[in-house]
Amino acid sequence: MILAVRSDSVVDVQGTLAGQALHFEREADGFHALGGVPFGSDSAVARVVRSYADGVVDTATVPLPVRRRRLPGERLRVAPEFARPPDSLKERIRLESELVDGVRERAHETPRLWHEPFERPRTSVITSGFGIPRIFNGAVRSRHYGVDFAGQWGAPVHATNRGVVALVADLYYSGTTVLIDHGAGLVTGYFHLSRVFVVPGDTVERGQVIGHVGATGRVTRPHLHWWGTYGEITVDPLDLLRLVPSLEWRATGHAKTRRTDAQR
Ligand SMILES: [Zn+2]
Repeated sequence: MILAVRSDSVVDVQGTLAGQALHFEREADGFHALGGVPFGSDSAVARVVRSYADGVVDTATVPLPVRRRRLPGERLRVAPEFARPPDSLKERIRLESELVDGVRERAHETPRLWHEPFERPRTSVITSGFGIPRIFNGAVRSRHYGVDFAGQWGAPVHATNRGVVALVADLYYSGTTVLIDHGAGLVTGYFHLSRVFVVPGDTVERGQVIGHVGATGRVTRPHLHWWGTYGEITVDPLDLLRLVPSLEWRATGHAKTRRTDAQR
């Protein structure tokens, strides 16, 4: 969702939403920041600290309504070691998740690098949406925290927006993985790749081919899993497609936009 603080007398805005820092930017009609809400929440609280030209600082706590989604389950059969990883792999999985958490954290320190709307990583059909409960070999193991795009082995995968490649790695669950840091808290991920054409530190442009579809990691067939995070919050990456980085940032995702008008 986009938060907006509209007041001529406000000179700076800091804040958090759902525990994550917000990165407000000044635009012609006020300050705007992108924020995320954890999946399954039915409300979220934004805390906003406004500084005024006359030196006054005030704090506002704004409850934001969030519409919940109802989702059907999805039954999958995978090799038993992916349904319940053996104990010997726990340490590997823990280290990998630390690696990814580090990228998510550092994205809060990166300035916003994208200036155009997000694009899909592939033009193919979506085969599985965000948040769907995953029933592996008869037991609910997780939710599907990403969006799957159809693709043959070797089909191109495009960067969905400008950013810096923050991680290229072969991870247990997500296979060959590329993470792009778009700055101001936002990261996108591209999982299960067969080939990768970028290295950490590369600046990638929107639409650039960064790799090929594959079937590495916990998968049943070749496809692209597209993933998006705002800090510690995993978001529906399709919501990113609706963000317009202009004077009028708009959000029409499942989380309603709420204006925190700061007129005095
Ligand atoms: Zn997926």
